[in-house]
Amino acid sequence: MSRSRRAFAIFAASAAALVAGVSAAPAPDIWADRVLTVPGEAALGNATVLVRDGRIVSVTPGFTRVPRGDVTIDLRGQTLMPGLIDSHVHITSEQSPRGRLEAVTLSVADRTMMGAQFARRTVEAGFTTVADLGANNEAIFALRNATAQGWVVGPRIIATGNSISVTGGHGDINGFRAEVMEALPSPGVCNGPADCRRAVRHQVRAGADMIKITATGGVLSNTAAGLGQQLMDDELAAIVETARSMGRKVVAHAHGTDGINAALRAGVNSIEHGSGLDAESIRLMGETGAWLVPTVLAGVTVSEEAARPGTWMPAPVAAKAREVGPLMLDALRRARLGGVRVAFGTDSGVSAHGQNAREFQLMVQAGFTPLEAIRSATVSAASHLGIEDEAGRIAPGRPADLVAVRGDPTRDVTLLMNPALVMRAGVVVRAP
Ligand SMILES: [Zn+2]
Repeated sequence: MSRSRRAFAIFAASAAALVAGVSAAPAPDIWADRVLTVPGEAALGNATVLVRDGRIVSVTPGFTRVPRGDVTIDLRGQTLMPGLIDSHVHITSEQSPRGRLEAVTLSVADRTMMGAQFARRTVEAGFTTVADLGANNEAIFALRNATAQGWVVGPRIIATGNSISVTGGHGDINGFRAEVMEALPSPGVCNGPADCRRAVRHQVRAGADMIKITATGGVLSNTAAGLGQQLMDDELAAIVETARSMGRKVVAHAHGTDGINAALRAGVNSIEHGSGLDAESIRLMGETGAWLVPTVLAGVTVSEEAARPGTWMPAPVAAKAREVGPLMLDALRRARLGGVRVAFGTDSGVSAHGQNAREFQLMVQAGFTPLEAIRSATVSAASHLGIEDEAGRIAPGRPADLVAVRGDPTRDVTLLMNPALVMRAGVVVRAP
């Protein structure tokens, strides 16, 4: 067995030990031809990254020989970069023709187990941190805690739990007969400022890291209620004020221009999707510093499905998909030209989990350089999510969340679709 093969065998064993709840402490030195320590700043040439106890100890020029007993991961010919961050996923679900049936057949425990599978796919694809924006509280908080404990192989998860929505809005239960909708819980629903304060406080008590709201209609809710503003100005103001008072950011799903701008005026921290973004939205984002999380991949996915003969989408969903899908790439292009801060996000769960890196190509189509796109999924997303000290760059003291790709992704961003190595907190979860 070659030296690097032996190293990977050791790491595979350590990953198994981690899952079993045993703290393994692999001590690799990683050699790479190119290290993007802080994507957007100058890359290092030949360098050695030293990892101990799951954290980065040092980044030094040249290829350093390791002490006896340690191992070297030889990534010569490859680019090493910080683990990628997806600021918008739904890791406990995935769209399929079975989706409407699953809504009434899967238990919370089923959802959690499904999420464990998707969490593994996501981290194996190089995404070592995700923000889950909308899932059952119990399922997602348990999965978040499980990946943090090493009980389940997956990314670090920042979770909002239930989306906060109005009755009948995007985020409520829609499109079933009345008795079914009465029977199904819709715990994120609120109406009026006082009730929306209650809903925010409920989410904080339940364990939400951030507050997710559906400021406007959305594509995949089975209702012909449009894509315009749904949470009213007084409700938005109450939500933002309450979340802020309890130390939580507010991330706002928004398609229609009216809802985007109302959410921005209320002071939300991000606009998710942003399909109907206009010049006023760009001005407001400049004024407040709100981020755009573009999720163009979701737009492409729903457009393709809506156009497919015999699509499983119910008519109101297909109609909204055809309306909004084609807008998203152009909205992102205008946002970039307008100087809006962009954090990478895909809405995976609409698209298949593990395909998150397809968004990079779409960002390049919208005018981003490959390096700008990579920065949005590292430094920028870490800043947006408030985890600058834990993710988004390779620096001593930070968790060893690392991705390596063969060749140079700053020239060809499609290389990110197939990482050669993924390390999460010092444990190799994907090896060549
Ligand atoms: Zn979403």
